[in-house]
Amino acid sequence: MRPLVEVEDLKKYFPVERSFIERILSRKRRYVKAVDGITFAIRRGEVFALAGESGCGKTTTAYLIVRLLEPTSGRIVFNGRDITHEPERSLRRWYRRRVQIIFQDPYASLNPRMKVGEAIAHPLEIHGIAEGKEKKEMVLDMLRKVGLTPPELFYNKYPHELSGGQRQRVAIARALILRPELVVADEPTSALDVSIRSQILKLLLELKKELNLTYLYITHDLATAYYIADRIAVMYLGKIVELGSVEDVLENPLHPYTKALLSAIPIPDPRMSRTRRRVKIPGEPPNPINPPTGCRFHPRCPWATKLCAVEEPELREVSPGHYVACHMLK
Ligand code: SF4
Repeated sequence: MRPLVEVEDLKKYFPVERSFIERILSRKRRYVKAVDGITFAIRRGEVFALAGESGCGKTTTAYLIVRLLEPTSGRIVFNGRDITHEPERSLRRWYRRRVQIIFQDPYASLNPRMKVGEAIAHPLEIHGIAEGKEKKEMVLDMLRKVGLTPPELFYNKYPHELSGGQRQRVAIARALILRPELVVADEPTSALDVSIRSQILKLLLELKKELNLTYLYITHDLATAYYIADRIAVMYLGKIVELGSVEDVLENPLHPYTKALLSAIPIPDPRMSRTRRRVKIPGEPPNPINPPTGCRFHPRCPWATKLCAVEEPELREVSPGHYVACHMLK
């Protein structure tokens, strides 16, 4: 079956503002290469995680897929249709209903002057799907689904009357009211108390099953990716360095960057902690305006050879479904 989303050689470069001196000297414009040629597919019904440290390009990728950002080059195909450069008017007609995003911060993503019921009903109004009694019924039903019960009580509350976890449930309800096919969840638990993170992840998994959803899950937290995702791609400085099932990538990481990332976090799973040894990544992440030549990880890699500084490794399949970009793993 054709994947729901196909991303091919996707790039997003942001121009860097030139200083007065640079303009006088007619210096060439420089770019932050936030996403620099990534290829992957999201299968229908799966949870696909994009993981990596802050600045690796994962959130930019999410924004490109929901078309909040215009790609510099490459292709995004949804359900067989190329949406890379589809105009906003056309996107509004069909794509915006089918693809929804849940943002990281439920405090910032809800309008403080809108009651919960109004906020969840808003997408129904924008797309002219329901009104009056039918609209209210749909909202109450969605409140029940996200665990805000009794729904009549929450319908008339304002965001400031809710806890962080309850606000994120409202944001989830608002994203799902249109019955999308793809939900992009951008670090949906990282702004929440640790105690309620697992409740929100559990809710997302329950709703996925009930509403037949596909998720693109963006995270810096490999432990939550291990809990929620089926497959994962690890990004470093705008590139995918490893991709595969969560079992392959997180229980048997092959790329030195994935190994180091994974060793730095406590994952409460006995199968994983058995073989893990803390690996330190030396140095700081390089500047994305001027990334290292060859393999972008080479200045920090314990395995680096001369070849790594001059030739960029391709993402290769090293075992069925497990891809790694490293010259040492051919
Ligand atoms: Fe390290 Fe070279 Fe592999 Fe890059 S290609 S991860 S520098 S060994």
